[in-house]
Amino acid sequence: MIPYGHQTIDNEDIEEVIKVLKSDWLTTGPKISEFEKKICDYIGCRHAVAMNSGTSALDVAVASLDMPKDSEVITTPFTFAATSNALLYNALKPVFADIEIETRNIDPEDIEKKITPKTKAIIYVDYAGHPCDIEEIQDIANEHDLYLIEDACHSFGASYHGKKVGNYADFTVFSFHPVKPITTGEGGALVTNDPELAKKARMLHNHGIDRDAISRYGPNAEWAYDMKMLGRNYRMTDIQAALGISQLKKIDHFIERRNNISSYYQERFHDMESISLPSTKDGILHGWHLYTILLEETIDRDELFKHLREEKNIGTNVHYIPVYRHTFYQESFGFNKKDYPVTEDVFKRIITLPLYPNMEQKDVEYITSSILDFIENKR
Ligand SMILES: *Cc1c(COP(=O)(O)O)cnc(C)c1O
Repeated sequence: MIPYGHQTIDNEDIEEVIKVLKSDWLTTGPKISEFEKKICDYIGCRHAVAMNSGTSALDVAVASLDMPKDSEVITTPFTFAATSNALLYNALKPVFADIEIETRNIDPEDIEKKITPKTKAIIYVDYAGHPCDIEEIQDIANEHDLYLIEDACHSFGASYHGKKVGNYADFTVFSFHPVKPITTGEGGALVTNDPELAKKARMLHNHGIDRDAISRYGPNAEWAYDMKMLGRNYRMTDIQAALGISQLKKIDHFIERRNNISSYYQERFHDMESISLPSTKDGILHGWHLYTILLEETIDRDELFKHLREEKNIGTNVHYIPVYRHTFYQESFGFNKKDYPVTEDVFKRIITLPLYPNMEQKDVEYITSSILDFIENKR
């Protein structure tokens, strides 16, 4: 079975993990700060905090901004539920804006329409690894005095107008789940250029503990620590960080492979009228975490999905079921799907094709010809 996504692990990755297992530090050791420093060097940003998942990093990012209870935060419904769940953990209200069809990213025009006096922040997701219209979103945020969180779980290594993702929002959040651009098994990180926000996020991910407790217990109290706020234990292990450091060396190669495979898909599908292809805007280095196409209404997406899985051993997927459709969101908020016409249209016609760095060319050819044959047979 060809999966829709897969990690790329080599012997060097394995060796690095084994070294940590033989060392004195399995967690809170030197590999964590090394990984955080290397993330900063790679992105060109000032502060990084490694965590045990992207979801944890989103939760800490939201919590660090201290927004009043019941504030509204505008986000996209076309994402994994973790994006807006981070708001619910913090007693904030998600407000969904519709998306743009070409990139499936949040539509800045619809963000503006959803702003009320209670709006305090925007969380935008770089869908599939294509950065959002960040400058437009920044203009909206400046005008209305809103915080920005970039959910860059798809777009580690991507860049916008020549600068890497991670340099634009108050917080940018990454995931290192196995299907994501680099992996630590489970894992994530947040980055920021603001030293105060970084300090707060670091405390919140470690029980709310401040290590710099000398001010309270005196200069000789080396045993001291102080819990200053109610935090969580969201720490990453050194085992994961060692894998992350090793993976980070290969990120540019991974992204290049992802770009090559998606270019091949684009070329092969280019002339098919019944398929709409994803597009890349000017000034973008696309991370291509996902390659998705939209099928014309005459092609039954679910039938294609089933055919590829059962007859061809090809695993495809649907990213995403819009968040407002989930039972929990329906029961808690009663969102109306008619308010998101583009999201609904895309959701009904979209399919994610396999894409990961060590896919073989013959697999890519097999997938494209299987899809083209299916469509030909439908005529
Ligand atoms: C994967 C993902 C998350 C959650 O990351 P985890 O590391 O799995 O917790 C959040 N948002 C988006 C857009 C994701 O794709």
